[in-house]
Amino acid sequence: MYVPLLAAFPVLDLYANNIDIVPLRSMILPLAVLTCATSILWLLFATVSRNRLKGALIAAVLLTFCFGYRYIDPSPLDEALADGEPAAIHWPVLAAGLLVVSALIVIITFWPGRLRGVTRFLNYSAVALAVLPIARIGWHHRQSSNRIAVADPARTAAESTADGARPDIYYIVLDAYARQDILMKHFKFDNSDFIDFLQARGFFVGHRSRPNYLVTYLSLASSLNFRYLDFIQDELDREPLDRTIPYRMIQDNEAARFLKQYGYRFIHFKSTWGATAANPFADVQVGSKEHVFHNEFHRALVETTPLRAWSIQRAEGGIRQHHLSAFANLKSIPTMNGAKFVLAHFILPHPPYVFDRNGHDPRENVNDAKPINDPNNRLPQRARMYIDQLHFVNEQIKDIVAVILSKSKSPPIIIIQSDHGPNPRMRTFAGKVGMEGRTAILNAIYLPGSEGALYETISPVNLYRVIFNHCFNASYDLLEDRTTTRGFTYVGS
Ligand SMILES: [Zn+2]
Repeated sequence: MYVPLLAAFPVLDLYANNIDIVPLRSMILPLAVLTCATSILWLLFATVSRNRLKGALIAAVLLTFCFGYRYIDPSPLDEALADGEPAAIHWPVLAAGLLVVSALIVIITFWPGRLRGVTRFLNYSAVALAVLPIARIGWHHRQSSNRIAVADPARTAAESTADGARPDIYYIVLDAYARQDILMKHFKFDNSDFIDFLQARGFFVGHRSRPNYLVTYLSLASSLNFRYLDFIQDELDREPLDRTIPYRMIQDNEAARFLKQYGYRFIHFKSTWGATAANPFADVQVGSKEHVFHNEFHRALVETTPLRAWSIQRAEGGIRQHHLSAFANLKSIPTMNGAKFVLAHFILPHPPYVFDRNGHDPRENVNDAKPINDPNNRLPQRARMYIDQLHFVNEQIKDIVAVILSKSKSPPIIIIQSDHGPNPRMRTFAGKVGMEGRTAILNAIYLPGSEGALYETISPVNLYRVIFNHCFNASYDLLEDRTTTRGFTYVGS
């Protein structure tokens, strides 16, 4: 029968379209929920109409309405998802749609004729629909397992066996955090309070630091492996980019491999974004209890349906809790035994905007959303929300830094860095100003005793080289600090 196939189709289709960035297991839950829910509906309407075929047809109508909804109420869904912001819903459209669906249900229920012809047609159609994404998924998984094996980068072994002090290393990535001069120039926000705080505690701040790549997954793949991604040039030239290799490099990264030789434990903080959402290569994974909407794939699937109206709050509440517990958990790491390499990637101050400057829900407290820097400024609403969220993040990071510095048994190393800057215009496509913002990052490093080793323009690709040379007598050459715009098509994650 066509009903389970139709129920599976939206999941298979969305997965096939995002195959490089979504793990296969993300499909399990939605597939199970959808086939169960649809079967129950089928049973229910079959009982009501006393006809198995009619019940199936009604279930199919409901499914089509649910997942076809984004075509009748497009809202700027694609743009919203790219920005990480939830899609809006238009209530009159939803009401009209529900009216039509109800009418169809009544008509089908009281339809005098038989439905064998329609059913046969739907059976063939459902099979035809499902075959395409399934074939794509199967083909991709064969291909990508080959590619990873071929392109796994050559490993550089540490040349030293120095086993002196083993400082804890914290790599805190704040997604799309703007550089100080960009905040001043384009957001009219003076961030010197935060930067001064860091410098007063001994941080080096690269006031002219630029990212090596402008999108999250290339930037992190490069920084965590302290190399440019030139060896996957062919992949990078392809459009859309295949993310398989960079994602793998982020999880199974060289920095963690290097440190494991020295007895470090790799502690991974789960994020709300693709490659850092979970990490099977980590020794310890820290994260709030898995929330169904922490999964981008689940979120995107729900956002195609009218249920998006309900999911927005659920998702944002979940994300807010996720960040808060990660902030709290970071403070408990210093007292854990043994040497630790901590990777904590926050999708902050990057949207969705879930914190106002005081850490409350910005949608709940409209008065609170007033700009904190200049009440008369003409920044667009999104830019003000960005600054408010950034301000809250500053306060959290200050707390965390103070706790790490005071509770660590020996002086730690702390890196607070953005993967790329934001587009100050808060638009999907970058213009001149967008590129200016995107190519400037926060880059603050606490590396005691490193006088002269760090410099104003140091970029992420060189950071672990400097740290490992400094602390482990490794002999990595420094690379040229350059920014590649490759792969940068829109201002998403
Ligand atoms: Zn990012």
